[in-house]
Amino acid sequence: MTADISNLQKSSEEIKEEMFSLMQELFPICRSITGNGVRKTLEIIKKDISLLKFEIPTGTEVFDWTIPKEWNIVDAYVSDLTGKRIIDFQKSNLHVVSYSIPIKKQISLNELKKHIFSNPEKPDYIPYVTSYYNETWGFCLEHNELIKMKDEKYNVCIESKLENGSLTYGEFFIKGESEDEILISTYTCHPSMCNDNLSGVVVATALAKYLKNLKLKYSIRFLFIPETIGAISWLSLNQNKIKNVKHGLVLTCLGDSGHFIYKKSRIGNAEIDETVEKILKKLKKKFEIVEFFPWGSDERQFCSPGFNLPVGSLMRSMYDKFPEYHTSGDNLDFVNKNALKESFEAYFLIILELEKKIGIKNIHSSEEVITSDKESYFLRMNPKCEPRLGKYDIYENFGGQYEKRKKELKNAIFWILNYSDGFHSLEDIARKSKLDLDIINKTASLLESKKLILRN
Ligand code: ZN
Repeated sequence: MTADISNLQKSSEEIKEEMFSLMQELFPICRSITGNGVRKTLEIIKKDISLLKFEIPTGTEVFDWTIPKEWNIVDAYVSDLTGKRIIDFQKSNLHVVSYSIPIKKQISLNELKKHIFSNPEKPDYIPYVTSYYNETWGFCLEHNELIKMKDEKYNVCIESKLENGSLTYGEFFIKGESEDEILISTYTCHPSMCNDNLSGVVVATALAKYLKNLKLKYSIRFLFIPETIGAISWLSLNQNKIKNVKHGLVLTCLGDSGHFIYKKSRIGNAEIDETVEKILKKLKKKFEIVEFFPWGSDERQFCSPGFNLPVGSLMRSMYDKFPEYHTSGDNLDFVNKNALKESFEAYFLIILELEKKIGIKNIHSSEEVITSDKESYFLRMNPKCEPRLGKYDIYENFGGQYEKRKKELKNAIFWILNYSDGFHSLEDIARKSKLDLDIINKTASLLESKKLILRN
């Protein structure tokens, strides 16, 4: 085993150039949770690592979810009656709502506006919008461009296909001396955006490429999956492998110039949590550590109460917290090579540190038990991964109150679903989430009536 990063066959200066050029190659591809964009992405990664490609057919049940139809798109535009393209998929794949059904017709601006998404708060960026589970069509546009559109007729065309096919993901496995594994998971479903999440993809690829040549004690499993549905699918179809996962990290937002932020695993004091903190201190740069919260990326599936795996997420600027997030502003100019390099090094050092300690038992308890003498303990009916909330008409049931307190209620749902494990009472959940107990109580009653949780 190499002692430190200097033992890599290449310098991290060279590796950073490799990561950035891979990002440039992957950037133009229109990816989604299924389809040829993902296959093409995995084919390109395959030039560096011999990953295995898996296809899960449409209709396969994975916990509470079903693999959706496969989506592919060739072209899309909105043109004026002279044929001039006003919105053009060929210029940016973010212009089309991901999973848009095909359409070709002439409509008025008013009609078209019902299918256009823009963000007046970020008027120069195209927003990233998806509609995976609700068949519709739409375009996304810079708000400044939308307001320039004249009140006239437009030709609308989306040349896409939504049909039975499969969900594609990639897996690369490095066999170490031990069966114990480190899980390195990243997502491949976002179209042309760099920090979220080509940065995760290129750092994971580089780690796999350089770790595979080392003699390792741990086995390391790399997942290149579509976010949410991919993690749920992998967990559902690989339950025999889960016992081997001793540590894990979700790679996201690793290319911007912000400082490192580590989101702890749900366990909170797992070896991975301590190891990441130790390495971040060693790097002697500003960093932040945040407690687990039940939304974000795929850590929320790995850390759902039925699995509660020691999986954290080391990122730079947190998703949702930087202005370019989920917009066309998250492009090749937004990320920088040095940030990628530092991210690669941090991950590499974390893995080396875990390697040093393999076999030494973690003396910490794996579950934080909060005692409370109140009686409001609930259990999830199906504690593995998140339920597909869209099926349960939950938001509709909140009525008028919902719009005003949308975010709070949404958060309450996630907190309750993640912490209804028999160990945390509703009072504990209110404390942890910093939400009002009455919102937690009301939400819990609703989730109980939907049979998502039951009183313990
Ligand atoms: Zn995202």
